[in-house]
Amino acid sequence: MKSSRWQSIRFKITVLFLIFGLALITMVYIITFSMITRMEETLIASRLHADIKYIEDLIGDGEWNVKGGAIYLGDTLVGDGTHEKANLAPFLEHEEKTGTFSYVFIKCGDEGLGHVEDTPTTKGYWEGHYLRVAGSTRDPNGDSIVGTYMDVQVADILDAEDTYGGEANVAGGMIYCRYNTLKDADGNVVGAIVVGRNISELRAQVREVMRIMIASIIALVVAAIAVLLFFINRWTGSIGEMTAYLKEIEEGKIPDTALETKSKDELATLVTGINRMTDSLRENEMLRVKSETDQLTGLMNRFGLNRCAEEAFERCYREQKPIAIGIMDIDFFKPYNDHYGHIAGDKCIIRIAEILKEMEKQSGVKCARFGGDEFILVCEGRSEKEVEMLAGELRERVQAADMPHEFSDVAEKVTLSQGYSVGVPTPHQKLSNYVHVADGALYEAKESGKNSFRIEQISKEYRPSDDLHEGQVSQEFDSL
Ligand code: GH3
Ligand code: MG
Repeated sequence: MKSSRWQSIRFKITVLFLIFGLALITMVYIITFSMITRMEETLIASRLHADIKYIEDLIGDGEWNVKGGAIYLGDTLVGDGTHEKANLAPFLEHEEKTGTFSYVFIKCGDEGLGHVEDTPTTKGYWEGHYLRVAGSTRDPNGDSIVGTYMDVQVADILDAEDTYGGEANVAGGMIYCRYNTLKDADGNVVGAIVVGRNISELRAQVREVMRIMIASIIALVVAAIAVLLFFINRWTGSIGEMTAYLKEIEEGKIPDTALETKSKDELATLVTGINRMTDSLRENEMLRVKSETDQLTGLMNRFGLNRCAEEAFERCYREQKPIAIGIMDIDFFKPYNDHYGHIAGDKCIIRIAEILKEMEKQSGVKCARFGGDEFILVCEGRSEKEVEMLAGELRERVQAADMPHEFSDVAEKVTLSQGYSVGVPTPHQKLSNYVHVADGALYEAKESGKNSFRIEQISKEYRPSDDLHEGQVSQEFDSL
């Protein structure tokens, strides 16, 4: 089964981790952002509350009260809305120390809290609103804004406890502030005190903290993902190696070397299992090769030949290309053996086998020792003419080997007789037919003087005779 790299475990896990990492970073970002913002707001709100108490301490001691259009804390005058009487010192001192600005309003009249259209005028003052009487707050030109009115609907924003905490626009800048109403000893609202901090400053601080936190979190997540990917890469790398190894085995190639792994986990057990299986396959393969190899010559023996010839015949039938089966027999080998001895006979057989091996390498044919002084040759995709050239070449090579044979009636050297059958297999024809025809051709070559070859073309019309059994190649070879 083929698997693309997009289907590999390594790819899937990497994508999963990237998605997971992105989701994690986004989630952490959102949580951190809302947490820090809320934390900052809580901190600043309680800080501003403390600021109000502190300013009151700086101004003086006692209850807030209004006398003759001026507001007092105890006996200390805070202001009446004019610059002359504005007691700015405590407010300025506090701002200098803490950066928190502050101011105090006096309530004007009883109409309630509200917005005054015309500022700064005495009109607003007499119409009963909130007039700034003292404070550290300045307008964009740097002038004290004593004598002006609030530019918001104070009544709308104060809560049940007569306080407000949140953002506000004061003197042209956004601030985070707290409004507290000021009450006299009888509980009447006589004014309001406001403290605030520049919100853009706060936001810049929050952004800075956020930047550091997010950068640290991203670095942490990226480092964690890198570590995870390193291990996953190691694991999936081993799996990939195992897959490639098994694929090679599936394709019929048994690897020479064992699989290796550095891990000591289940993958190691798997690798050991695969290695054991491969060892046993290698052993089986060695046994197979041994069982299919002729001991004396190292050529294929008849078992190997059966398998190899059947496969070649099947291929040629499938691809509709010619197959040739050749049978070769040493001429006058019996007298050779008798006169030169059995060992010399063996050497002669080995020499012929070497010539056939050379032809295997150079001409892409398959050769086998059939037994005794007989050999078989299988070749695919060659025409009758090409087989003729091949047979002629073999004859010349044996002649060139120059093995003296004084007891041959046809030459002074060792010679071969060869018989071939050539044809494109049809559904009615079997390998055994080709062997049978080649055997007949060899017989003819022997009959007509030896040291020669005969080639029989098997036509498409050729039908096997009844006395041949289908697929009995081995039996057919055995009957030779
Ligand atoms: P022909 O020319 O018609 O082929 O006759 P031949 O003398 O070659 O006779 P045949 O092929 O029947 O003889 C084969 C001989 O090969 C018989 C046997 O003594 C000998 N032989 C078979 N196997 C071996 C072997 O492994 N080593 C040796 N040295 N001789 C063998
Ligand atoms: Mg012979």
